[in-house]
Amino acid sequence: LANRMFHPEDTIVDVNGIQIGGKKIAMIAGPCSVEGEDQICRIAKEVKAAGADMLRGGAYKPRTSPYAFQGMGTAGIMAMVKAREETGLPIVSELMSAEHLDEFVENVDIIQIGARNMQNFDLLKAVGKTKKPILLKRGMSATIQEWIMAAEYIMSEGNPNVIFCERGIRTFETYTRNTLDLSVVPIIKERTHLPIIIDPSHAAGDYKLIESLSLAAIAAGADGLIIEVHDDPEDAWSDGAQSLKPKRYAELVEKGKAIAKVI
Ligand code: PEP
Ligand code: MN
Repeated sequence: LANRMFHPEDTIVDVNGIQIGGKKIAMIAGPCSVEGEDQICRIAKEVKAAGADMLRGGAYKPRTSPYAFQGMGTAGIMAMVKAREETGLPIVSELMSAEHLDEFVENVDIIQIGARNMQNFDLLKAVGKTKKPILLKRGMSATIQEWIMAAEYIMSEGNPNVIFCERGIRTFETYTRNTLDLSVVPIIKERTHLPIIIDPSHAAGDYKLIESLSLAAIAAGADGLIIEVHDDPEDAWSDGAQSLKPKRYAELVEKGKAIAKVI
């Protein structure tokens, strides 16, 4: 169903009137974790002013350690809803368990399937039974073929609204958190008709690298960027080291638009 051979034209996923896969680069930004209503509403306004089209924020967090902050859960989702009311930005959040599917269908505009759940086939089938746009992150050790088959799990249940998201893969390199694999952009575009966006934040793990990777992603033909932005990265509850401050994010958006114009 994802195969370009049987569907030559590009799929454009519509998210409350914002298109992913069209001419414009979709800019998604926000903190790794929702830390409270004030925090998410404040950052939502800042990223909107910087040029973001959508807001990200995790409420159910897949943390390596069970002792680390696990996310605010329902209160986090409701804080995202409030931020959407205040800014009009559609909201993206990660679903970790089908147990919370109804809550996400009701409240969230894009359901994110995280890297760690890319091959959680029951979860893929569950979101496939909805019509919600699904942001399908690449597993950190997944081949492109495995990733495309994960999209097939969603589509074969009846949901065509899949957006791929490259977020870096595990390699021998330790300088970066993961290795951003930009070769997937032309490959996914050749093999499938679905949109693909890039998450440079989880690939790099370091805010200093985000701008270069983002500009390269746009030049490579990506349909959008999802970037972690926090107004106090030093005190962020998760992923502060890779989070941009709003001012730096605004500069990135400006440069990104300039590159998008010439490609
Ligand atoms: C996230 O987006 O905050 C996240 C946990 O991403 P990934 O699944 O790519 O690690
Ligand atoms: Mn994160």
